[in-house]
Amino acid sequence: MLPKPVEMDAAQEVEEPPSISEDEPPSKAVLLHTPRPALWADIPDEKWNDWHWQIAHRLNTVDELSQIVNLTAEEVTGLTADDKFRVDITPYFASLIDPDDPDCPVRRQVIPLGRELHAFTGMMADSLAEDRHSPVPGLVHRYPDRALMLVTTQCASYCRYCTRSRIVGNPHQTFSKVDFAAQLDYLRRTPQIRDVLLSGGDPLTLNPKTLEYILASLREIEHIEIIRIGTRVPVFLPQRITDELCDMIRQYHPVWMNIHVNHPKEITPELNRALDKLLSAGIPLGNQSVLLAGINDSVDIQRELVHKLVKNRVRPYYLYQCDLVKGAGHFRTTVSKGIEIIEGLRGHTSGYAVPTYVVDAPGGGGKIPVMPQYLISQSPGRVVLRNYEGYITTYDEPTDYDPHQIDHLNQQSVHRDESGQGGVSGLLAGESQAIKPEGFDTLHQRGGAAHRLNGDAAKWQPYHQNGNGHNGNGHNGNGHSSNANGHTNE
Ligand code: SF4
Repeated sequence: MLPKPVEMDAAQEVEEPPSISEDEPPSKAVLLHTPRPALWADIPDEKWNDWHWQIAHRLNTVDELSQIVNLTAEEVTGLTADDKFRVDITPYFASLIDPDDPDCPVRRQVIPLGRELHAFTGMMADSLAEDRHSPVPGLVHRYPDRALMLVTTQCASYCRYCTRSRIVGNPHQTFSKVDFAAQLDYLRRTPQIRDVLLSGGDPLTLNPKTLEYILASLREIEHIEIIRIGTRVPVFLPQRITDELCDMIRQYHPVWMNIHVNHPKEITPELNRALDKLLSAGIPLGNQSVLLAGINDSVDIQRELVHKLVKNRVRPYYLYQCDLVKGAGHFRTTVSKGIEIIEGLRGHTSGYAVPTYVVDAPGGGGKIPVMPQYLISQSPGRVVLRNYEGYITTYDEPTDYDPHQIDHLNQQSVHRDESGQGGVSGLLAGESQAIKPEGFDTLHQRGGAAHRLNGDAAKWQPYHQNGNGHNGNGHNGNGHSSNANGHTNE
């Protein structure tokens, strides 16, 4: 196959040959590799292990994929559709595909099916309303103290269920230096942001100079405490995780990284070596999986996945419910399947190995954790709980607990202003009394005018919020404010 132009930003780096096996420490080095299909049997190791070669030889057509996979009629339909989401598969990741199994979990993630073109109820272009929560292009500020910075639309390979398929894969939609400048400017003048997540696309496909410019610029902003990188490069293109890349990233610590593995088959000796390099550079690793029908919607498969991740020193972080985006309809499961999976993990394996199952709220409400119900009942002084085995027990609560013992220390602690996003926690803290849907007050005025019984608004405010009160948390309430959803805190 002819090499293709390198579309993602390339660095002039040379990959070191792998030195360790999946399970052995470096001192007991045993070379292990994923077996290559016959098509690439004669490719010298130095080329195969060079990420530039991998990128230049990505597969994306029926002719190319037919050389290593016995394509089904539906895959051919998917691959030849005019308006399909971009297809590109690195030779390394393609070598994990079972050529004869149409249900191969690796294959299902990257080779399109005809059915991905079908619209479904609830489908949206931007289901998480990211673009609506972007004060400047590519900078999503949804939560009080953190922001998402989209830095590229390019990936090493493309997942068929991609949440950002509205822009990902399209080089014309990618982000420019002008966009980076606007994103950084917003971050500089928003001191409440202490955590920035770089994503895209895949930040590790950026030219290293551009990535370093972004990391260095973020590090110069005093209020940004941590930087996170969300990447699937270690999974699609482990050859890209070079010593040079790791040495560059480690200069900007604390940097955390979330990888994206969906099935145990993706955990290979090559991935293990890449993870080892990242960990050796002091980068804590987490994993984000997407719950995908026919790929990982099984307690046994999820258990094997989280065990292998933990063995590789990667903490399972999130298990996402599949988003309502174009192309993802046939990957979606019920939410009850996710709850069943957490039921099968919590208590049955180490807490470290249990991810948080979340539904990323359509419309932009952010991640909502969903889990089985463990609190069965409660009365003043006693709660009834059940464990994973169905053992039902009681916990006697103290009758003399004083939540104000902490007030003295609490007054000395830093209270973070959440700018109207206190939410339910704010209700508990006494910052506001209710959260109302937009237009609630106007609706309930029913068109009436002020009269002798409704003219004094102070009568509906608790005394402790009425001017000079002090709330139960030791912090002053912040009065009225609107949250991002158009609800009003009062
Ligand atoms: S790696 Fe991430 S951004 Fe890229 S296609 Fe997959 S899910 Fe989308």
